[in-house]
Amino acid sequence: MKITAVRASWLRAEIPPDRQHTSDFGRNDSFNTCLVEVETDSGHVGLGEAKVGVGNLGHYAGVVETIRAELTPQLLGRDPRDLTAVWEALYSGTRAHYVPATGRAFPVVGRRGVTIAALSGIDIALWDLLGKALGQPVWRLLGGRFRDRIPAYASGGWAPVGGIGAQLRQYVARGHRAVKMRVGLQDRSVDDSAARVREVRETLGPGVGIMVDAHGTWSVREAQRFARKVEDCDLGWLEEPVSPDDVTGLAEVRASTDIPIAAGESEQTRFAFRDLIAARAVDVLQPDPAIAGGLTECVRICALAAAHGLTVAPHLWGSAILFAAGLQLAVATPCVTTLEFTRGENPLLNDLVEERFELVDGHVLAPDRPGLGLTLRRDFARSITV
Ligand SMILES: [Mg+2]
Repeated sequence: MKITAVRASWLRAEIPPDRQHTSDFGRNDSFNTCLVEVETDSGHVGLGEAKVGVGNLGHYAGVVETIRAELTPQLLGRDPRDLTAVWEALYSGTRAHYVPATGRAFPVVGRRGVTIAALSGIDIALWDLLGKALGQPVWRLLGGRFRDRIPAYASGGWAPVGGIGAQLRQYVARGHRAVKMRVGLQDRSVDDSAARVREVRETLGPGVGIMVDAHGTWSVREAQRFARKVEDCDLGWLEEPVSPDDVTGLAEVRASTDIPIAAGESEQTRFAFRDLIAARAVDVLQPDPAIAGGLTECVRICALAAAHGLTVAPHLWGSAILFAAGLQLAVATPCVTTLEFTRGENPLLNDLVEERFELVDGHVLAPDRPGLGLTLRRDFARSITV
């Protein structure tokens, strides 16, 4: 089998004004991502997703051009089933020929950021292709079915005091057993964030999991103060209390609270996660398959997590392709214990493919279709291509 064409497209789905939310990132007026399609001489087409930002805003012309001009020439004619070889070749660039003899990687400057995002999209598409070629779901190729279903938590929660309890109750009404809300600088103060969390716990009662995400906006002291104020709210995790640039600060926060610390959505490659683990900064790793290096790299990150007694909750704020990739990983991997289900308005999750991710008792079921199990709605994709 040979790769005959690679397509990268910037998808931008407008969000109607009455369904937009506002966070510290700003007004979310559209959902953006890069769709990757890898074609082969066998007729199979693999779908992937490459993301250059953790949220739904962003400018994707750069990653589209990186895939078109830099990576595609290295892919044409290659056998897409050689996933590891392709990954290492794209990661090490012109020095990739050193890898087989030395066993090490040779990243050039720039093998972070857009390049790893581009590689992520290619890698996800190759897993989809391999599954389709073999007539098997990706989880079968990742080691087989470890679980039949996986909990999916609702990710949203921007409303202020007086509305946040009701907002998260809507997610529970839609079938989720755990919810995540935003805190941090988007609120007026640490006290305001704590009051919002308290309202949610009082509204939802003791049976629903509550996680909070500060988007890396607090100082160490603010994060510690927050953790102390909500210590009786039984939080599932505190996500990115401080900037992802401050790993030492993250470890400081973690050492001062028994609320589990989650982080890693903007980290790339196993090397970055190794450093987070070594700093004792996290309890829950959150690689985003469309950012961190694809499913190939997420498998490696999961192995690191398992070896250190940590769990993985992949960051899945993206399209149905990203969600499907996370789902496939979770079906096959013991340390992946929950999935992020976007509850902000997300046309890329709901309209980009024919399939729907139904919740059953708060869980998403393991899909049985080949590859990622998705059928792209090409007309829709074309209609939102920038
Ligand atoms: Mg987050």
